[in-house]
Amino acid sequence: MGKITAMRKELDVKNVEQHERSFIRGLGVTKSFGEEAGAFAALGPVDLNIAQGEFVSILGPSGCGKSTLMLIMAGLMPATGGKIDVDSKPLLKPLTDVGIVFQDHLLLEFRTALENVLLQQQVRRLDRVALKRRADELFDKLGISGAQGRYPRQLSGGMQQRVSIARALVHDPAVLFMDEPFGALDAISRTQIRHDLETLWMETRKSVLFITHSIDEAIGLSDRILIMSKSPGRIVKEIKVDLPRPRPAYLGDYPEFSKYADEIYRTFEELGVYHFN
Ligand code: ADP
Ligand code: MG
Repeated sequence: MGKITAMRKELDVKNVEQHERSFIRGLGVTKSFGEEAGAFAALGPVDLNIAQGEFVSILGPSGCGKSTLMLIMAGLMPATGGKIDVDSKPLLKPLTDVGIVFQDHLLLEFRTALENVLLQQQVRRLDRVALKRRADELFDKLGISGAQGRYPRQLSGGMQQRVSIARALVHDPAVLFMDEPFGALDAISRTQIRHDLETLWMETRKSVLFITHSIDEAIGLSDRILIMSKSPGRIVKEIKVDLPRPRPAYLGDYPEFSKYADEIYRTFEELGVYHFN
């Protein structure tokens, strides 16, 4: 039995149990790009379950299919195989009860920070007064109060990403998808924004799918970490992160932290992502 097959076998039992009570359920999801004969297998098969209010991270090497998986789970890209349920209903069109944050902030340059956030209100035709109130609250909680009237170019990278998070949450969606949202930020800003996101999540308890390259970030934020193999990415390991919240800036004081980190590094070595020695 191949290494990946053996790792996945171990996961299957857990998956069946989780599948029943999950809010977001992906079963046997695959994606190939291109014509049938010469198609490039980019993803899967992947089983993915996220419970209501659960924070799940996906950690995997570049190019393994993480962004593809997220787009498929959001209904923004058709899967080649498998099926997806959200709230017990098959996902057949783009998910609407969702907020998405990408690595690039994708803010409109000609709109102020507040107008960018309120785009959600216009597109979704929601109550402007209520949304404006909620936006101001989010600016405050994300540590950018006072930045409402500024244009994206007048904001630092960290602030731009905070505005993107506010935009993703202002309509109070049940689900939050984040694709390497802090990837372009410096390490110090990343630690702060990680904490601010955790605090906000603790108040709102969205179901989160968080994609990252960062082991610290995954351990610092997640209830569960799913590790993906190299392309075509499959989920080969699950790590339940049992640490109290809110978690501190420096996680190294927890003995469990090094246990989780060690397990992640060892998995990457087994998968051939790392070659040390
Ligand atoms: P990750 O986010 O893990 O870095 P991606 O999901 O972006 O990986 O991509 C997985 C693989 O699929 C990569 O090899 C990428 O080049 C390929 N890929 C992604 N999107 C497309 C597309 N629209 N057409 C063809 N190939 C794609
Ligand atoms: Mg990606």
